[in-house]
Amino acid sequence: MEQSIAWNNAVSQFNKAAKILKLNESVIELLTQPKRIIHVSIPIKMDDKSLKTFQGFRVQFNDMRGPTKGGIRYHHEVDMEEVKALAFLMTWKNTIVDIPFGGAKGGIICNPKELSEAELERLSRGYIQAMYQFIGPEKDIPAPDVYTTPQIMAWMMDEYHKFQGHNVFGMITGKPIELGGSKGRDIATALGGTFVLEEALQKMKLQKPTIAIQGFGNAGRTAAKLLSDKGYKIVAVSDSHGGVYNEKGLDLKALMSHKDKTGSVKDFKDAKNISNEKLLEIECDVLIPAALGNQIRKDNAQKIKAKIILELANGPVTSEARELLFKKGIMSIPDILANAGGVTVSYFEWVQNNTGDSWTHEEVYARLKDKMVEAFDSVYEVYEEENIDMGLAAQILAIKRMVRVMELRGIYKK
Ligand code: NAD
Repeated sequence: MEQSIAWNNAVSQFNKAAKILKLNESVIELLTQPKRIIHVSIPIKMDDKSLKTFQGFRVQFNDMRGPTKGGIRYHHEVDMEEVKALAFLMTWKNTIVDIPFGGAKGGIICNPKELSEAELERLSRGYIQAMYQFIGPEKDIPAPDVYTTPQIMAWMMDEYHKFQGHNVFGMITGKPIELGGSKGRDIATALGGTFVLEEALQKMKLQKPTIAIQGFGNAGRTAAKLLSDKGYKIVAVSDSHGGVYNEKGLDLKALMSHKDKTGSVKDFKDAKNISNEKLLEIECDVLIPAALGNQIRKDNAQKIKAKIILELANGPVTSEARELLFKKGIMSIPDILANAGGVTVSYFEWVQNNTGDSWTHEEVYARLKDKMVEAFDSVYEVYEEENIDMGLAAQILAIKRMVRVMELRGIYKK
């Protein structure tokens, strides 16, 4: 169910943009079909000596702008439809931040919490054994996603090495720093989001904004920490157990240690408990959905009081909701721009691997800032010119860039 929502939402945003651009039907057809779908069975010997066969996927959606790139997720509910939708979104995300990659995504149907470390390692190596012909630094470059880690990337790189007979660091990103990973990759998504947010705050002339964040994991917690360190006031946060709110601002350091001790942000001193739904609707200037998809929809968009929404999660705001919010004067910065910091630093990792270079934290952050600000400005220009929501503006910009590449490659002529 969730999967088809993801695909329908991505395609509905694409179709709206295609209509404005009066895109030729044959171009629409090409851009909405994956170039390659790979479905493999991965037999694994379990610790108890039994044999279990897992299903793995990789969708290489579009490689017209460069080798395809996107994460691999391990989840018991992942399926081809979801992977396809995410690969489609990766195509546009990579185009928006203008890195020389196409879009891909991968997945294995499994519950990583039920696997031992040794089983997880065998499964990750098995994925590469099944996929190695199709991936590589000039073909398709995987990375971590939901429930996949730098350690898993290291095993995958090591397995690939066996087939090639030499190290190929640039075949995968999100690796541990000691094994060719880039500095700054761990906070890249959230940091990229803060750069984009600061541009939006300037445009909207919002000083001293109050901020609410849904989700307190990798993306949400890091964003909260970075923004709080910069002096912004975080008034509410939530996790899967519920949320907390204090209009005067939350003491983030104390909140993080509360979360580490109790496993949740709930019941934090000096704050009111609020529901996850309520968090989306509270009085604040900036709302950062950083947990799940499909959170702000046609049915609750009217209740949002924030002036800016930074879509740090994948697909938290539907394309219909983006349009409604725009009509209310709320700027929703789309996921393909807001959370593109992660893949941008992955690109930096690939560049460093291919050149044998190693950049400092400061170099990575400065380059990331340049990329994110440039992407925001380009999308904002379309937003102003066309007087449309930022999601649609980003999609229009990405399609224009893609069509230009198709023309240059001789695939399509107007
Ligand atoms: P995560 O698993 O580390 O964190 C998810 C957080 O959301 C957890 O704190 C969880 O408790 C919370 N949560 C779950 N259900 C909730 C609910 N109903 N209400 C409020 N909070 C809830 O995951 P993450 O890596 O932070 O990813 C979050 C989102 O950001 C996902 O959509 C992911 O695809 C997207 N994203 C993450 C990255 C990254 O680099 N981490 C990059 C791009 C996109």
